[in-house]
Amino acid sequence: MVGRFRIYIIKTIFIRSKLKNRIMLKKLKFVIVCMVFGVTVYAQDQYLTGKSEDVEKTYISKSSYEVKEFPQKFKVTKPKNIILLIGDGMGVSQVFAGLTANKGHLFLENCKFIGFSKTQSADNYITDSAAGGTALSSGVKTLNGAIGVNAQLEPVKTILEEASENGLATGLVSTSAITHATPASFIAHQASRGSYEDIAADFLKTDIDVFIGGGLDHFAKRADGRNLVDSLQKKGYQVETEMEKIKKVKNGKLAGLTAPVHNGRMNERADMLPVATETALEILDNNKNGFFLMIEGSQIDWGGHAGSTIYVVEDMLDFDRVIGQALEFAAKDKETLVIVTADHETGGMALTGGSTEQGVVQAAFPTGDHTAVMVPVFSYGPGASEFTGIMENTDIHAKMKKLLLEK
Ligand SMILES: [Zn+2]
Repeated sequence: MVGRFRIYIIKTIFIRSKLKNRIMLKKLKFVIVCMVFGVTVYAQDQYLTGKSEDVEKTYISKSSYEVKEFPQKFKVTKPKNIILLIGDGMGVSQVFAGLTANKGHLFLENCKFIGFSKTQSADNYITDSAAGGTALSSGVKTLNGAIGVNAQLEPVKTILEEASENGLATGLVSTSAITHATPASFIAHQASRGSYEDIAADFLKTDIDVFIGGGLDHFAKRADGRNLVDSLQKKGYQVETEMEKIKKVKNGKLAGLTAPVHNGRMNERADMLPVATETALEILDNNKNGFFLMIEGSQIDWGGHAGSTIYVVEDMLDFDRVIGQALEFAAKDKETLVIVTADHETGGMALTGGSTEQGVVQAAFPTGDHTAVMVPVFSYGPGASEFTGIMENTDIHAKMKKLLLEK
């Protein structure tokens, strides 16, 4: 912009040099102001770029994991169970950054059916996780910031609620607070994603079997003084806050609240997400009617917001290992559909260098916000062929509902 403007100014000076001296003087003054302004903006850009370059710009692999190949044969054409995995902020670059960092392979490659999802919300070209989550959970485009309600802010039924009403078991797992936008969109109905305590209270209005994530404070340290941990226990939930205890639960109802608000980054939370996933799958599989489970890799998004290649890659790889667990379950069970997608892309991540042999990734992030680009949809299992081509994010809900609930 500034560059073009300068060219325009220079052209103006030279082409119109016959103008009267007074006008010239005015223009020159304007040019000087613009030049100073231009230099200032440029300096700011350089500063911001320089700053983000210092923040974890390059990922260098210390270890990689082996990726298994799973069979592509299933027992049924309509799934008994659906595992929906949402990589928050996960675009194609985030996936390929993970693939490069793991030296050329991801569990995701077992998904032979691939499509793209358009993420625009009802009121914005660029969605947030609340509207993005609601589109996936309920099949309606809503306003940015809105949870489980339509654009008129009326509650809409989620696939989790519908599955529960049909006698299926249901679960939510996330590395963020379980009350955060994405998991909340599957169970709560609130005009604002920031109403964490109201969102926590909505968990009690459902019969969800398992939920594991952060957010303990929204249940236990509330402004209204209610203790929802007591209420959960009265409703029959085993409420646990440590992963060691959570992983011992094999049946019944489980509320795992593993952090006051959000779980930490990988170095802090370690294998929280894989252990939570294993526990949830074990409990949900007890229901003979089947189950719906949503698992979120919440922090791929936060890596993008931070402009940190390392943060994105670490969380992408954690998420891919969890995708591997879901695929392993589905490959054995042969009646489970696994869908992996995102609510939106974050950071406009561009891969600017790297090495698959060494597991090195360099990236640039032109924005600290979400972007409008389509996000990938990967699927494996009975019904997976439905999730190909370019679709609206709301179509993913319609397809899941048709496959899981319309027998
Ligand atoms: Zn975000």
